[in-house]
Amino acid sequence: MVLDYRLILTQQLELMLKQARDISVEDLASEIQRIGFACTMCGGCCRRSGGDNCVFLTTVDVEYLEGNSQMDQVAIPMLADGINYSSRSYLGCGSDDALSPDVDQEGNIHTFGWMLPRNSNGDCRFLQGSLNTGKCGIYEIRPMLCRTYPFYMDEGQLLISECEGLGCAISWSDSLKMASNVLHRYVEELEDTLLTYKMFDDVELYPGAPASVEQENGMVNVIVHDARGAHRVSMRIE
Ligand code: SF4
Ligand code: SF4
Repeated sequence: MVLDYRLILTQQLELMLKQARDISVEDLASEIQRIGFACTMCGGCCRRSGGDNCVFLTTVDVEYLEGNSQMDQVAIPMLADGINYSSRSYLGCGSDDALSPDVDQEGNIHTFGWMLPRNSNGDCRFLQGSLNTGKCGIYEIRPMLCRTYPFYMDEGQLLISECEGLGCAISWSDSLKMASNVLHRYVEELEDTLLTYKMFDDVELYPGAPASVEQENGMVNVIVHDARGAHRVSMRIE
């Protein structure tokens, strides 16, 4: 019997989505208040030195950022953490298969979703200022992951990321606001993943194969699959 994995995943996501919509904001807020949180503005979640600072963007985040920012590049194709398009190992020239991209027979890299761009030092491109005095350059329109850090949800459970502000007192109204955003983000991520599965057209991939790099300008083609379909992006490598 051949299993249709996409159908099974879709059904699982639909069930998770249904359960997510039944989660009580008040219960979540109680949990957040019990854990405690106040941002100390240390910038740890925006800097590479603070750990995994990859900011995944849903399609809604990307459209909101594009519609409300004057900047020319607010999102780049999602990469595995710790690698950059400037890394030759990512282009199939290195020895670490885990970091190799999925490449089709034309040499296009395929990836799912978007993330915030980072500087060459790995810090978020929108972080302004120097160490310990940094501030978010897009604070008013920052994506949901930044608004809800260090909280997130997976399989219906509230989880926390590393953050020096955990354990600090938080008011009930701030707990409620955070809980509402965390739940909103969780539902949005599930909807985004579900739609992405539905929009995805099977493509034959060759993991570990080298990507095509245009000799004259050092560009690679990346096909990003998201909830709207497939998008071709040209990226320059150093
Ligand atoms: S959310 Fe946490 S890690 Fe991020 S700046 Fe605030 S205290 Fe630092
Ligand atoms: S968008 Fe702002 S809050 Fe989010 S990682 Fe970048 S600098 Fe930090």
